[in-house]
Amino acid sequence: MRILITGVAGFLGSHLADALLADGNSVVGVDNLATGSLNNLKHLDNEVRFEFRELDICEAFDPGRVDYVFNFASPASPVDYSKLGVETLAVGSSGTRNALEVAKKYRAKFLHASTSECYGDPSVHPQTEDYWGNVNPIGPRSVYDEAKRFSEALTMAYHRYYHVDTRLVRIFNTYGPRLQKNDGRVISNFVVQALKGEDLTVYGEGDQTRSFCYVADEIEGILGLSRSDEHLPVNVGNPNEWTILDCAKTVLKVTGSKSKIVYRPLPQDDPMQRKPDISKAKRLFGWEPKIDLETGLQLSLEYFQTTIDEEAKVK
Ligand code: NAD
Ligand code: UDP
Repeated sequence: MRILITGVAGFLGSHLADALLADGNSVVGVDNLATGSLNNLKHLDNEVRFEFRELDICEAFDPGRVDYVFNFASPASPVDYSKLGVETLAVGSSGTRNALEVAKKYRAKFLHASTSECYGDPSVHPQTEDYWGNVNPIGPRSVYDEAKRFSEALTMAYHRYYHVDTRLVRIFNTYGPRLQKNDGRVISNFVVQALKGEDLTVYGEGDQTRSFCYVADEIEGILGLSRSDEHLPVNVGNPNEWTILDCAKTVLKVTGSKSKIVYRPLPQDDPMQRKPDISKAKRLFGWEPKIDLETGLQLSLEYFQTTIDEEAKVK
């Protein structure tokens, strides 16, 4: 297949490109480099089946005939989407519409990267796909949450009105190599802080929970969904739930760091709990994650250490 990935220079987009190329496909990847980096694609420089185009998907674009569209473009970390609020709403609306138009034009299949953030600060736990969520529509996180909820609605509308063959994956917190070390997400912050011997910054009391999925597991789940015929949303994430404090302690253990834990204010509307119910993914395409947090952190250390060393060399 010839496959379009939007957001290809990002963390997940670049891993997805690797997996699709390894399966023998050709990939045309687009990105405006708002939060991604060409470093994530360097290893594909000599790959003849890979083509990169720098563009903003909020403007109409035509990559040529494609068989599948994976729509991954969007700032994703709270720090990034707070800085790029209007751009985040734009890519969830106009950008997603342009990507859907490509799929419609070429009768390509379409998979949209949605998020557990559609559930907001959830009152149903663990989160099942039929839960409609608890989102503050005007709070600081709304630029991301509502963009993603709108893009789900748009994707379903293209399916219902134009019969585009669509899929929606609700991705839960994912980590691993190529996570930008300064994007403010908890795993990148804690690991970089631990490796540099700096204090680990726990927001609030650290009793809020997240469920962390290693990137290789996440990509396998996304590919599983891409091969299925399910049009309604499917959760793909690791159901092992961690308090943020225990996550910090685990990072200290895995890195062997002597860093201290310090407490900082909890950001507004920070969800208190998050854990996917993955029975739908298991039932539909037999997926479940295999890599636990300690192992996934071990697998990520070399990448983070290298990026820290490179930064030190530049200074
Ligand atoms: P990322 O920031 O590393 O990658 C996103 C990429 O999209 C970047 O390379 C960025 O430059 C690009 N982009 C942003 N706006 C664009 C635009 N207008 N035109 C073209 N490119 C644009 O983030 P990620 O973690 O790889 O996330 C990828 C997707 O998965 C996002 O849609 C995100 O919302 C979703 N997601 C990720 C997670 C996670 O834990 N990583 C969780 C839930 C959902
Ligand atoms: N967090 C933290 N310290 C940090 C960064 C994040 O305690 O240095 C917390 C944050 O408040 C949230 C959780 O870790 O409760 C996950 O944050 P992240 O930004 O990774 O993703 P989110 O799930 O909030 O989108």
